[in-house]
Amino acid sequence: MLPQEIIRRKREGEVLTDAEIAFFVKGITDDSISEGQVAALAMAVFFNGMTMDERAALTRNMRDSGTVLDWKALGLDGPVVDKHSTGGVGDKVSLMLGPIVGACGAFVPMISGRGLGHTGGTLDKFDSIPGYRTTPTLEEFAKVTREVGCAIIGQTSDLAPADKRFYGIRDVTATVESIPLITASILSKKLAAGLDSLVMDVKFGSGAFMNEYDRARELAQSITEVATRNGVPTVALLTDMEQVLGDTVGNALEMREAIDFLTGKHQEQRVYDVTMALAAEMLAVSGVAIDVADGLRQATLALESGKAAEVFAKMVASLGGPADFVENNTNYLEAAPMINAVTAAKTGRVVSMDARKVGLALVALKGGRTRADQKIDFAVGFTDFIKVGQPVSAETPLCIAHTRDQAQLEEATALLREAIVIGEGEVAPTGSEPAVR
Ligand code: URA
Repeated sequence: MLPQEIIRRKREGEVLTDAEIAFFVKGITDDSISEGQVAALAMAVFFNGMTMDERAALTRNMRDSGTVLDWKALGLDGPVVDKHSTGGVGDKVSLMLGPIVGACGAFVPMISGRGLGHTGGTLDKFDSIPGYRTTPTLEEFAKVTREVGCAIIGQTSDLAPADKRFYGIRDVTATVESIPLITASILSKKLAAGLDSLVMDVKFGSGAFMNEYDRARELAQSITEVATRNGVPTVALLTDMEQVLGDTVGNALEMREAIDFLTGKHQEQRVYDVTMALAAEMLAVSGVAIDVADGLRQATLALESGKAAEVFAKMVASLGGPADFVENNTNYLEAAPMINAVTAAKTGRVVSMDARKVGLALVALKGGRTRADQKIDFAVGFTDFIKVGQPVSAETPLCIAHTRDQAQLEEATALLREAIVIGEGEVAPTGSEPAVR
């Protein structure tokens, strides 16, 4: 088989066979197919798409390009379920969701990523906990999941290595934005993690990877169909990222919001709705609950009884963090020296919030990164965000900035005043959409 023949067939809009896809993925993995050829196939798929059969074969072959975890062999004798979000700004949902679902009796071995560009990453939030090991051995990962119910750790390079090379090439050849390729990229890693079932949180809106609702819905449909064809029942929720999720943006600050949520001190409404909706779906799709309503009932009980907070505390301690982290988190989380309100500077109503620009304001404070190898400052960020629709005067805080110095405060103020638009017009309601099954 010749790579150029496969590229030519896809260029002409033909449907590739399983054998051709397997051959190509093998060549991506062992470097026997050149970067130029991989890029050419990516571009051909970008323009001509892939059938669901082709997407399923691409996903399966990329999944099998490295280790595929077997949780039964690692001692988990119950349903193994995870959630994957396409990423947002202020999205700290995993921090509460894993422990809630773990507390209900499912096993949640959650493999998370770091933030890049305007989107935050769950792993960076855990890095803000002193001592927490985000890269334990597989045995330790399995032990914590088995004993606690949930463990949140980082991606290991032996899961779906084909995706690592393929994504790197797509990233520099303007071929990331292809729904078949995104489907295979996300799912190859998730399916290699050996899940029995999966829930996707596909974001739409200004802070999302897929801004347009219709494209986000298309991605949700593609992912649920391809995952289910590969033997992992999957449900997707489409959730709104037209404004930041919750009250905080910034790693240690989001960690604090998550602990306040789990301990019942403060639960911002949109974070609550998204977290509980995802928890209910995870419990239903994994079979721990009989249906979504039962899942919601179980999740609510786990949260309100304090059991989810206990699971979180045990997970942190088992992975090397402080044993009293939940009670005394403010002693451990780094805090920025300057705390100042960013005021609206004019009168009107918040008509929109560009969540992407808020994410970039965090990057400007070095609380996020533009390159994968950059170190970040966990302490900086923003709290007490205003909501779209709220009336403001010139003195009303849009949020509170946590910065290292005056120059950072001034830069953040300018960026946030650009991101949060004050006007007079009506505010279009946004919100989460029904599940895609
Ligand atoms: N996230 C991924 O993991 N892969 C993509 O292709 C896009 C987003």
